[in-house]
Amino acid sequence: MFISGKKMNLQPPGIAGRNLFVITTRFRLKDCRNDSICKFLVCNFLYRTQFKIVTTIREFNNTAMPDDRVLIDKIQKLTDELEPEIVALRRVFHQSPELSWKEFETAKRIVAILEEEGLQVQNGVCGTGVVAEIQGNREGKTIAVRADMDALPMQDAKEVSYASKVPGVMHACGHDSHMAIAIGVAKILKRFEGSFAGKIRFIFQPCEEAFPSGAHELVKKGVMQGVDSILALHVDPEIEAGKIGLRKGALTANAGEFKLSIFGKSGHAARPHQAIDTIYLSNQIMTSLYDIVGNRKQSHLPAVLTLGKIAGGIKSNVIPERVDIGGTIRTVDMQTNDEIVNQIERRVRTITQAAGATYSLEFPGLIPSVNNDANLIGLVRDVGNSILGQDEIVDIANISMGGEDFSRYLDRAPGALIRLGARKPGDQVRYLHTHSFDIDERAIPIGMSIIALSVLKFLSEASPA
Ligand SMILES: [Zn+2]
Ligand SMILES: [Zn+2]
Repeated sequence: MFISGKKMNLQPPGIAGRNLFVITTRFRLKDCRNDSICKFLVCNFLYRTQFKIVTTIREFNNTAMPDDRVLIDKIQKLTDELEPEIVALRRVFHQSPELSWKEFETAKRIVAILEEEGLQVQNGVCGTGVVAEIQGNREGKTIAVRADMDALPMQDAKEVSYASKVPGVMHACGHDSHMAIAIGVAKILKRFEGSFAGKIRFIFQPCEEAFPSGAHELVKKGVMQGVDSILALHVDPEIEAGKIGLRKGALTANAGEFKLSIFGKSGHAARPHQAIDTIYLSNQIMTSLYDIVGNRKQSHLPAVLTLGKIAGGIKSNVIPERVDIGGTIRTVDMQTNDEIVNQIERRVRTITQAAGATYSLEFPGLIPSVNNDANLIGLVRDVGNSILGQDEIVDIANISMGGEDFSRYLDRAPGALIRLGARKPGDQVRYLHTHSFDIDERAIPIGMSIIALSVLKFLSEASPA
């Protein structure tokens, strides 16, 4: 049921004056939201009918987007109101982390909140992905906001009330905060749906931390269709809360992985001449692989080769038949990446062949470097200057050797990944992917207001009134 034309000069908290509001109601077999306006205006009238009512309040605004100062004040007021709720939500996510491609409860929670908020929600995208949209009041551009959802297989060692309740699983990369912030942004921007041109799409992405990359799968599924631009943020424990970090062009490295297995012949440790010693060969191979980076042709460009895994053997007096080694390759140019890959193959082949051993070597995938669009970084810088002041904008000097599958979206549309300062002033740096990782939650409202205003600025500049 829709009650139209019921316009009132009411002023719900957080919304600036001079606006008219339309109260819309629809029946649903669900408890009525405890909204004071709903209760006062609608529930008293209809509650006796035995139907339960859900009410949404939609801002009705015939005018174009308010001017910058009014808009900023409005966003900041909404952000302030939402902050306790969104910080609490971040803690809920933090306490209940889920691994890559297993973000089932996380997705359910996101869907429930966004549906209640009145967004058009599509769930189960590539399994646990969620895509939701807010339509503007007229045709225009589409901008996407992406948040990653997965946690890491690590034990949370923090002693805080909101520490992970799942043994061996932890949000150690801040994706809990990214989801909460994106939901906060959706709640803010829903209040503006009557005043902007175009469309805002929220992409909640599974599996940022492993292969196959969630971004890769979602893009193949079509989530970037019709998207003109995309924004995301990542918490940064090396930048103080209250600041944001920006970089035009390359922000992160090409991140590749490799998996090597060496197969020899098992035997008694006392008689290595009867065996093909995989432990000894691993030692030779690892030493040789570590030499690659120092001896490459493009030595003026940064590159990293790290071996993060070695597994083999069951007993000190038994030569194992097999040893497994895993590593990562980080580069800022594809030529260096390809050179390192070729060198790994050549060195492993040469060493194993000389010993009569065999091997398998896989390069399961590569996450390309994130390349931030200069215009969007300029837009976010303007937004940061307005909200935080220019002293709080950190120019990121160096490319991070970390990988980010946000680059998969940038294959389809220009975008920007913003670093959100998250270090508590005076606290130690709590690095990503460590057991003590945490953020200063004062970063959360900053992330919300920066993204919300950037989205509205993009849409208004792309489709002027
Ligand atoms: Zn991570
Ligand atoms: Zn991350």
